[in-house]
Amino acid sequence: MSVIGIDFGNESCYVAAARSGGIETLANDYSLRATPSAVAFDGKKRIIGVAAKNQQVTNMKNTVGGFKRLLGRKFNDPHVQHELTSIPARVEARPDGSIGFKVNYLEEDQHFSPEQLTAMLFTKLKETSAAAMQTQVNDCVIACPIFFTNAERRALLDAAQIAGLNVLRLLNETTATALAYGFYKNDLFEEKPKNVIFIDFGHSALQVSACSFTKSKLKMLASTWDQIGGRDFDLAMAEYFSKEFQERYKINAKTNARATLRLLTEIEKLKKQMSANSTKLPLNIECFLEDIDVSSSMQRSQMEELCAPVLQRVEQTFKRLLAESKLQLDDIHSVEIVGGSSRIPSVKQLIEQVFNKPASTTLNQDEAVSRGAALQCAIMSPAVRVREFGVTDIQNYAVKVLWDSEGTAGPGEIEIFPQFHASPFSRLLTINRKGPFNVSIVYGQQIPYPDQTIGVWKVKDVKPNERGEGQEVKLKVRINNNGIVLISSATLVEKKEAEEAAAAAAAAEQAASEEKLGEQAGGASNLGENADGQQEAYYENDDDNNASTASSPGGQGWAQRVKGWFSSGSDKKKKAGKATELPLEVSTHGFSPVDLSNYTQQEAKMIGSDLKETERIDARNALEEFVYDMRNKLQGGPLERFVLETEREAIVSQLNDLENWLYEDGENCERETYANRLDALRKKTDPIKQRANDYDQCPAVFEELKGSI
Ligand code: ATP
Ligand code: MG
Repeated sequence: MSVIGIDFGNESCYVAAARSGGIETLANDYSLRATPSAVAFDGKKRIIGVAAKNQQVTNMKNTVGGFKRLLGRKFNDPHVQHELTSIPARVEARPDGSIGFKVNYLEEDQHFSPEQLTAMLFTKLKETSAAAMQTQVNDCVIACPIFFTNAERRALLDAAQIAGLNVLRLLNETTATALAYGFYKNDLFEEKPKNVIFIDFGHSALQVSACSFTKSKLKMLASTWDQIGGRDFDLAMAEYFSKEFQERYKINAKTNARATLRLLTEIEKLKKQMSANSTKLPLNIECFLEDIDVSSSMQRSQMEELCAPVLQRVEQTFKRLLAESKLQLDDIHSVEIVGGSSRIPSVKQLIEQVFNKPASTTLNQDEAVSRGAALQCAIMSPAVRVREFGVTDIQNYAVKVLWDSEGTAGPGEIEIFPQFHASPFSRLLTINRKGPFNVSIVYGQQIPYPDQTIGVWKVKDVKPNERGEGQEVKLKVRINNNGIVLISSATLVEKKEAEEAAAAAAAAEQAASEEKLGEQAGGASNLGENADGQQEAYYENDDDNNASTASSPGGQGWAQRVKGWFSSGSDKKKKAGKATELPLEVSTHGFSPVDLSNYTQQEAKMIGSDLKETERIDARNALEEFVYDMRNKLQGGPLERFVLETEREAIVSQLNDLENWLYEDGENCERETYANRLDALRKKTDPIKQRANDYDQCPAVFEELKGSI
């Protein structure tokens, strides 16, 4: 069994594997480490990765890229509409409002969602890993942008499931980078935390995080991001060149998708050259539009001018991280950069300006995210033995829990996790209730998604106690390993009368010191009161939070004291009463189990048909190769003297016919047809080969025999 980490980028993916010897970034079928995030369809087959990108210009309608940022979204989402302006494939709204890329595949128009396309890409990455590791791949850690919301994270997990990957964790991309850095720098860490800033500037996003390292542990402190990336530099330059070509050659590149794509490809090359060279560099494209060859040039300073608005946003993002992490410049040990666009010299200058430190390139800028993800997978998986390294991630957005009203008690809400709270983490939220009720989990701040809701949970089977009063319902609110917030369980705590009286007395006592506790907990206790003046809701940290997360806001000390308040009211009666697990009905983002199962079957079928198509083409190639090879051997080659002339002529003529057939009627036959023809040919030629072989073994006997004929 192998253990892998996947960096699914908007432009390209990397896969790293953990082996006993260390972490290795895997090469794909083109011996490249980067696999473009592109999927294409051509007749009977899917083309994924490098090959898809290579044929994009000639098969634009059936080649799809740029789908990472569309995951979990609806077609009419303004963000989707914006993204689609730079994706040349055909796309439509599906009847349920989802996004459907329309492609021609298996001789019919078919629609695929961004989740399905991501699954196809994962299938390819899985094959790459299996080929490189010579073993089946199942367990993986997938890196995902820090800013991904619930819908996007669930969509990513759905895509992985469709591809048959077992995701041990979705790890934030900057956290993966931090792990790739910290794991090998452990010797430098001490009791006193070392703070490092990680900057990932990729194709579609800029992510910046602050992380503190102590011995064998990392703890993310704060993160921020902006939706700017390498592609924005390309677009600004494309705008400039299009205008120039319009003036000089009277051609409008924007009217032609193919020309736009070619221009962007050349610009990206030019931009990369500019990172290493500040002189004027040429841009030439032959037969660009209307058979016109275009040429122009640009130098770095010009590009920087054109991209000033993007660079300004880069600077603002850096400054925001400084403010949000509350770190002073002196507190920062170093600033590590990864991601393709972090190679742009003006970005490095901005880093130096804002953080007062040179940008440091300790890590491999392209591979760090996948390597960190692979390390995390190795730490979590029993398949590989590695040294422990604790990873405490953060929840990027504040999270609130809301519940509906009951009787005289109005609806309630509580901020259960403030922004940048430790993750994974669980809290127990206790609400006093007489009957079933609904709880919503929502983001408590603006998020880059049209809907703030994470999910709605219906808590069923709640009933009043014997006296008709409300009872305690304990909801476990959890940020899980994937950065997804959910209610993982609900329990009804039925207390005996004596216990209740004791608990109430203790509660009264506690209420007196509540304010103080609230302060210690970062003001997080938010205790509501119902009409009878009883405590209506409160929360506490759950026992299962591991030691590394206990020092987070609202830490363990506070939790234990609050717990003591409710479960040990009387010395004699320590038991908390009868606890009954309550059924939950949830509505949240992501595919339904039925849809998921259908998509999984569909993917498996496509894998099967890809395999069949590959075998068909292999069989055709084998026959073609045999025809050429045998003809050469029979005509002036080593087999010529082992066959009678008439027989030889008949076979050669059959070979010629087969060659013609392969390029005409036989171009698109089933595998069996090619295989059968090859078999029939072999039956005729094998005896000739056999004679030649026999001759090689014992030429003297052969010559003797020949002489006697
Ligand atoms: P994202 O992280 O946004 O999902 P990604 O991981 O696919 O995307 P990367 O591979 O980190 O992105 O970076 C790709 C971007 O970096 C492209 O826009 C590319 O043009 C740019 N890039 C790569 N090398 C250089 C270079 N030498 N100079 C400038 N830009 C570069
Ligand atoms: Mg990236």
